[in-house]
Amino acid sequence: MKEDIMVVVVGAGPAGCSAAEAVAASGGEVLLIDKKSEIGSPVQCGGFLPEAVELEKLMPRAHLPEALREIPERIILHRTHLQRIYSPSGNYKQFAVAGRVLDRRAYDRYLAARAAGAGARVLPATRARLEEGIVHLSGHFNGKIRPEIIIGADGPHSIVSRAMGNPIQETGICLEYEMADVNIDPDAAEMYFSAQYAPGGYAWIIPLGQDMANVGVGVRASYLAGQKLPLILDRFIREHTIAAEKLAGGEVLAVMRGLVPAGGTLGAIQKGNMLLAGDAAGHVMATSGGGIPLAVVAGRIAGEAAIGQLQGKMALTNYASRIREEFGIELSRSVQIRKMVDMAMKSDRLMNALFAALSPAQMKSVMRAQIPAPLASR
Ligand SMILES: Cc1cc2nc3c(=O)[nH]c(=O)nc-3n(C[C@H](O)[C@H](O)[C@H](O)COP(=O)(O)OP(=O)(O)OC[C@H]3O[C@@H](n4cnc5c(N)ncnc54)[C@H](O)[C@@H]3O)c2cc1C
Repeated sequence: MKEDIMVVVVGAGPAGCSAAEAVAASGGEVLLIDKKSEIGSPVQCGGFLPEAVELEKLMPRAHLPEALREIPERIILHRTHLQRIYSPSGNYKQFAVAGRVLDRRAYDRYLAARAAGAGARVLPATRARLEEGIVHLSGHFNGKIRPEIIIGADGPHSIVSRAMGNPIQETGICLEYEMADVNIDPDAAEMYFSAQYAPGGYAWIIPLGQDMANVGVGVRASYLAGQKLPLILDRFIREHTIAAEKLAGGEVLAVMRGLVPAGGTLGAIQKGNMLLAGDAAGHVMATSGGGIPLAVVAGRIAGEAAIGQLQGKMALTNYASRIREEFGIELSRSVQIRKMVDMAMKSDRLMNALFAALSPAQMKSVMRAQIPAPLASR
């Protein structure tokens, strides 16, 4: 393996693939490394991605790459048209949201194939370790590389972030089942708030078709009080007044777990020749846990910053401000909203009161990281 590669991207999820594609498309030499034997697998995601028209409202200043706007139909398993949000007391509010539910394994592979098509070299089944600017590879490919630029797109436990000296980020812990033979509303992506069934987070039902769904729960460790996540999710499926009617007879086909950054960006996203994008940088909407769109946009910007630096057109130090310009306001507002809702999450009574104070339109604003009046006054 050549030692003097221009750019190494650690992690071939949405952020890393988009970064590698951007570098390669501009003529840069780039390696895309992932420890997974099969890119995109195992899946750790609900696969929900709003349609492009919704993403334009979520991130109005962001340039959305083609890979977010025009996803091949074979990767879209299902479409939803509503978002329905349940309070702890079982009341719901709903509003129109056009959503795509992706086959996440196929989507990641599509993104990796785009990067490869642009000229990136892809190294699966290969773990990266960083030591004083040298990337050590082990697994299917072995060797040492001293790249000019390193892009850390390696998820919530990023080794690149650690090498930059960043603190460990605040995360939510998620457990999700793919379930068959369920009696769900195939038109609605649902969120359920409840201190009992989803302490410090929410439970969800994301339809995969008429009688299939991803059913999960994401919570924060500080709210768990010793409870085990599988018990919480199983209780939601068996006992929740509303959800149990839809799910109780279903069968679990797959079990997925993973972490989701919950606190926005902590620490630096650029230091020396290192950049962070996607989950590694905390680029996840704290109000919804949605990270796919931000990862693709941030990856694209990281790739552009890397090639810009190499071609003398843009300093790497401009990376953070480019991110802020495209979706920084929405990301930090989502964290602000999450912190406002945190207190209410401790008690179902407070959560019910907050829920009653918000109209469906205001809830939609919250999901778009806009702060409605009843929350602003808290
Ligand atoms: C249960 C669950 C459900 C979710 N549901 C949704 C949803 O419905 N919609 C949504 O928008 N978001 C969802 N998310 C969040 C979303 O999955 C992430 O935000 C998104 O995958 C971030 O992309 P990424 O490229 O930054 O990181 P990842 O997709 O995590 O990719 C990081 C990659 O880096 C690799 N890697 C890590 N360390 C190394 C190393 N040392 N060497 C080599 N490779 C390495 C990993 O193998 C991985 O492939 C969910 C998350 C979870 C956990």
